[in-house]
Amino acid sequence: MPRVVPFSSLDEPVGRYPTLFTTLGTPSSSTPKLKGSRKLRDENMRTVRLRLLPNGSQERRLRRIADAAARLWNELNYVRLVQFRVSGKIDFKGTEHEFYHRYKSVLGVNAGQVIRLNNSAWKSYFETLRLYKQGKLPRFYGKPSPPGFWKDKLLGKRALRILVRNDRYYIEPINGGEGYLVLKDWNLRVRYAGKIKWAGKQGTLIIKYEDNRWFAYVPIEVGSKPVKTNPKGYVKGIYEKVQIENLKGSNKAFIDIGLNNLFAVVFSHTDTAILIKGSTIKAEYYWWKREIGTYQSIRDWLKNHGFESWRKYHMFYLHAEYKQHERLRHYYRTAIRFLARIMHEMGVDEVFIGYPYLVNQDNGNEFNTNVWWFNKIVNWLKDVLQEYGIRLNVVNEYGTSKQCSICSMKHESGRVKRGLYVCESTEIKINADLNAARNIAKRIGYNTPIPRKILSYIVTTNGVKPLTPMEGVTVETPQD
Ligand SMILES: [Zn+2]
Repeated sequence: MPRVVPFSSLDEPVGRYPTLFTTLGTPSSSTPKLKGSRKLRDENMRTVRLRLLPNGSQERRLRRIADAAARLWNELNYVRLVQFRVSGKIDFKGTEHEFYHRYKSVLGVNAGQVIRLNNSAWKSYFETLRLYKQGKLPRFYGKPSPPGFWKDKLLGKRALRILVRNDRYYIEPINGGEGYLVLKDWNLRVRYAGKIKWAGKQGTLIIKYEDNRWFAYVPIEVGSKPVKTNPKGYVKGIYEKVQIENLKGSNKAFIDIGLNNLFAVVFSHTDTAILIKGSTIKAEYYWWKREIGTYQSIRDWLKNHGFESWRKYHMFYLHAEYKQHERLRHYYRTAIRFLARIMHEMGVDEVFIGYPYLVNQDNGNEFNTNVWWFNKIVNWLKDVLQEYGIRLNVVNEYGTSKQCSICSMKHESGRVKRGLYVCESTEIKINADLNAARNIAKRIGYNTPIPRKILSYIVTTNGVKPLTPMEGVTVETPQD
């Protein structure tokens, strides 16, 4: 039997992130999670990102605090790494105690947050390692590696981030788009810009310095009231419930996710299919990839020939990596918002997405990047669909692209021509990615009509635009 799993059970182990994302990944992937009530918590957890606008002296203080937090992480992690190498074990309690007392004068109780995050990083490493040794990890994960350090390897500079316990800060909105972040332990009141969509109980705050800007990531348990001991630990946002809309039907949708067609979708109730083209995303990805490669090679040449200016090119390189990430994030989120809205309009209540057979398995870096983005996209999609009350499931092992969704045979020779899959028995031609989407449906026992009408869209900077005349079908393009 194929495995159909709700996505939450897939998000750990998280796999090997590309190096950039180890330092820039969003907090949700590294925030310690409580056992037991985890699923419910996850479903109501949302993270809001706010841009911090510290003045000069505030900025200097943020740097000092963040530097201390990074030193704590790095020193603690180093000691644990040595223990692990020597004995294969870690003295969690002992190291915890030692470093908490060493850093509590600068960080206050928030030193405990850094330590807890390191604890959970090690525990998840041990768990992943155990699965790896038992051969239970998908093969593309490779051998897991222990938690890394908060620093830029080349510059040797520490990565700046601050963790703040949920009762050691609060947010004072002035209006819908700005306000103040108050950090009690350091007597700081920093201005922020950004909309707060969700209302609820706040979790551990993460402040990060990214590409010369400060950001605050505020996890919110949507709809939950704060505990009595900390009445101010409540973020005032727009929505007190994750589900904003009501379902319009009980249809099913099946999605294949890929590079050429970001989303290829077929439905249980109609022969209309949807293609959301990824060509702009792909083009942008490769443009930045070239940019990154250029700076990288100049940097390395300068470094190898003893020129100090390599540092400047390293900064350009980091900036390009950051821009690439931000641009892709924007495109993906735009596409996901659009897709979720269509699903809702078409009366879908459940979506099945295939865990892709990723090509490029030889190219290590690119492949890890793809896996990383795939997990990211599915998580985002799950969150946005939830706003409509639509459930998302992941379907594993749904057959190869060689499988024919029309006659169920494997046509070895005549598979894909210019994105078309040709069935050798029936002569029917079908878009190759829609063929894959139909295989997902088939795998879990649904029959989908052979698509007769295909609505094609392309993701642009200003939203998702139709590629074909829509013949009376209008679907509004939502703003990101
Ligand atoms: Zn066939």
